[in-house]
Amino acid sequence: MSMEIQVLPLAAKKPGIVDESKLAFGTQFTDRMFLMEFEAGRGWHSARILPYGPFTLDPACAVLHYAQEIFEGLKAFRRPDGSVALFRPMDNVRRFNRSASRMCMPEVDEEFFLGALKQLVKLEADWVPRSEGTSLYVRPTMIATDPFLGVRPSKTYYCYIILSPVGAYYKGGFSPVKIWIADEFVRSAPGGTGEAKTGGNYAASLRASMEATEKGFDQVLWLDAVHRKYVEEVGSMNICFLYDGKIVTSPLKGTILDGITRRSILDLARDLGYQIEERALSVDEIIDGAQSGRLKEAFGTGTAVVVSAVGQFTYRDRTVVLGDGKPGELTQKLYDTLTGIQYGRIPDKHGWVQTI
Ligand SMILES: *Cc1c(COP(=O)(O)O)cnc(C)c1O
Repeated sequence: MSMEIQVLPLAAKKPGIVDESKLAFGTQFTDRMFLMEFEAGRGWHSARILPYGPFTLDPACAVLHYAQEIFEGLKAFRRPDGSVALFRPMDNVRRFNRSASRMCMPEVDEEFFLGALKQLVKLEADWVPRSEGTSLYVRPTMIATDPFLGVRPSKTYYCYIILSPVGAYYKGGFSPVKIWIADEFVRSAPGGTGEAKTGGNYAASLRASMEATEKGFDQVLWLDAVHRKYVEEVGSMNICFLYDGKIVTSPLKGTILDGITRRSILDLARDLGYQIEERALSVDEIIDGAQSGRLKEAFGTGTAVVVSAVGQFTYRDRTVVLGDGKPGELTQKLYDTLTGIQYGRIPDKHGWVQTI
């Protein structure tokens, strides 16, 4: 596909990042965005980089009623030499297309879309913050735009990319979180859309997250929908356990997200000599394992946090504690290694980083 990307002029620039120490997550957006449109029979067209801003949608449009929507999330990092790097961006583009296929949406040309993403980040490179732990979050999105209330795949779509400078996630240090194991709510079921990065999965998860917060927990651990017994994910992260000296993590069987951080962490753990077991750990193994010492560490993985140490699990009326209030040794090591590679402090043996 050799579609031209038109770069429209910017009438006015925003003030930029005023204070990097006050950056939050996803509240501020850069000057420009990428947008292209799809029409059945014509394909993708009108690719352009234009000033960031709202667009007009018909109130009947499909995404607003039936949630035909997908998104991605990746980061651009500022390196010690001032250059900007993306982490495994083609993996995100490929996953975007897998999500599109699941949601009956048109795929994008992978090379073209990655090129567009890089061009946008390059134009907005001033927005990549420089302080420790900060980055520029990249959010590719596709929405169904047919103004039609019938239930069927839309014939028209918008695909866009927006950028948001984000602050360091661990401002007060890398501290372990409290997990509530939900047995009433489920995130996804076999045959459902758990493996797709689609908004509806998040809408469906809000109620459990809200109840967890009310009860004083940080995150929800999702169990499988069929047995309500086996671990799937935690919040919107994948989860890994250090159990019997091996890394145990839920297998990719269609109900969990195929996380790029998960993949990277498993490779780094292999490099350290750990054996990886992709199998579903049960709630009993968590509760008994924490008490017997077979379960030593647990951590979530995802682009936003990279690694999140788990300090305790609560299931019904039982709470078990892991470690001594600090992240486990392996959790810390994997966090330091992966962030070191992303920020260019550690050599990138795996070829994950792409400078732009
Ligand atoms: C995005 C996401 C993840 C993490 O994927 P990464 O590629 O590591 O960011 C995990 N679980 C869910 C449900 C997600 O949406």
